[in-house]
Amino acid sequence: MATRKRKRPARAPRTALGTLAAILLAAFVWAGSELGWFDAVRLAPAATPLPGDGLYVTFIDVGQGDATFASCEGETLLIDAGVPEAGPEVAEYLAGAGVTELDYVVCTHAHEDHCGGLDYILENFGVGVLFAPYTEFDASGSFTHFEDTAAELGMEITVPPLGAEFTLGGAVFEFVGPVSDWGGDVNDSSLVLRLDYGGDSFLFTGDIGSGPLEDCAYVGGYDLDCDVLKLGHHGSSTSTDQGILDLTTPEVAVASCGLDNSYGHPHDEVVALCEENGVLLLRTDRDGDITLHSDGAEITRVGAA
Ligand SMILES: [Zn+2]
Repeated sequence: MATRKRKRPARAPRTALGTLAAILLAAFVWAGSELGWFDAVRLAPAATPLPGDGLYVTFIDVGQGDATFASCEGETLLIDAGVPEAGPEVAEYLAGAGVTELDYVVCTHAHEDHCGGLDYILENFGVGVLFAPYTEFDASGSFTHFEDTAAELGMEITVPPLGAEFTLGGAVFEFVGPVSDWGGDVNDSSLVLRLDYGGDSFLFTGDIGSGPLEDCAYVGGYDLDCDVLKLGHHGSSTSTDQGILDLTTPEVAVASCGLDNSYGHPHDEVVALCEENGVLLLRTDRDGDITLHSDGAEITRVGAA
């Protein structure tokens, strides 16, 4: 499996060199699109403006839950860590990848299948910056436990401002949601991140619903166009509809879900939508850990046949 970037101008780190490289790459992509080069020719790695070994993103199989690990040129980001029982599994994955410290950890929202395993991660890894949304809802108690663990370890929790950007090696991630009042629906309080590396982009949506996700674009003005979409809410139809696919235009969608889960995730409607839109659907319940690599111009799946 390989994907290539076609139409959106590259978003490079905010340096003069990066901006110049982004302009050149955008011009190259535009020219290639106009001339039809990409019908026959894959965007050549030689056009990659970024140094280093690229960006790796792994959707860790934690059963019914979310845990995503990204690393770029030595810097690391973990988004969620599944249910409490998944914490040691995520830790084992990270240790296997040679990780002892995490530069950034994000808790997308106060549900157990996202924040439950984070206590174990905080207790076993050095953490640079810890992000979580503000919330007063915590039915399972997992979020309170997460907050207490952070406090015991002397870690501050940062509620990221909308639009805040952080570098991850040569990549940049930005908090692009939620932008709207989420009322009492904890799913809709999910922090939404986009991650850009050269001309490649990933969108991580937590469990946010389709309406509030659309608001990130239509109210917030954020660009949700991406190459890889982590489907909201484990592939639920409450998070993904045709409007979302029109906004995001991914080439790859990932559902993080447990085998034969009782929710029926990913929902049949979402599976069908992916097929109809020509989006490759990967799912942790069938594929296990899913690792994608970006060199800034092309995304490939690592370790897949
Ligand atoms: Zn969830």
